[in-house]
Amino acid sequence: AKEHRRGRPVVFTADHEDAIRARSILEQELRQADLEAELTLEYQPIVDVAAGRVVAFEALARWTNPRLGRVPPGVFIVAAERIGLIGTITAILLGKAIAAMRGWPDAIGLSFNLSAHDIASPAAVARLAALIEAGGVAPERIALEITETALMHDFDAARDALLALKAIGAQISLDDFGTGYSSLGYVRRLPIDKIKVDRSFMADLLVDKASRDIVKSIVDLCRNLNLDCIIEGVETADHLSILRGLGCRSMQGYHFSPPVPASEVTRLAGPVDAA
Ligand code: C2E
Ligand code: CA
Ligand code: CA
Ligand code: CA
Repeated sequence: AKEHRRGRPVVFTADHEDAIRARSILEQELRQADLEAELTLEYQPIVDVAAGRVVAFEALARWTNPRLGRVPPGVFIVAAERIGLIGTITAILLGKAIAAMRGWPDAIGLSFNLSAHDIASPAAVARLAALIEAGGVAPERIALEITETALMHDFDAARDALLALKAIGAQISLDDFGTGYSSLGYVRRLPIDKIKVDRSFMADLLVDKASRDIVKSIVDLCRNLNLDCIIEGVETADHLSILRGLGCRSMQGYHFSPPVPASEVTRLAGPVDAA
């Protein structure tokens, strides 16, 4: 039977209190952190398997804190949103990503993740646009990734934000495609250039015909709508060969490379053996 501690509802178990304590420690460390120094980015290649080359890198945030160690982005990004620090963090990361990009070949693009808060207000969007415009790289080389969940909060604000970012030349990428419930509606109603098929489809791609059919119809849809389609979470040669058969061209995943430090980008930016 579940215990009631000091007569309070069962949800306040010791574990729950531990979780709250951990959360407040994390938020405290995040507030005090030297974010310029502690935040870094790793870069994961996005490969065009037909051309056999890397076409872009997705920047993935890393926070290494002297006391907490390495905190996963899924944890600290959410905490930063909660305590109102996400705008600062996004600006620091985007600045670092654009600086790194200046050393890349012109043909290599950057994919950069935005959170819901980054597109929630015209002021936040203006700040992003200014950073990109001052960055000294062609904005067309930058794809801003946004998830369906982020778009859901305030659809009209999101659409205005995406239009403003497109107006300066940036590309818009719909992340984690297929996990929300209005994927197709978003594609139709928003100025989207690329979609990224969520890696959950890879889990049973080899054994489940329905998964393959869904991926195939997303690829066909993209071709008809003239959208780039990137498959995420490609982990094995079997994934790759099935995906090739379905007509997929752009892919990302451990099969090609895990996210790597900035210093390794140039080494990976050449031709790839996509076999
Ligand atoms: P995401 O945008 O969907 O990023 C892809 C995640 O999948 C990354 O995890 C990446 O390391 C991982 N991944 C890549 N290839 C494979 C694969 O073949 N198999 C598997 N199982 N995983 C793979 P990571 O770096 O831990 O990031 C997690 C999430 O945190 C991201 O998911 C994104 O939502 C968020 N995030 C990361 N960096 C940023 C950022 O700079 N800003 C914002 N707002 N969110 C970020
Ligand atoms: Ca992403
Ligand atoms: Ca994703
Ligand atoms: Ca995700």
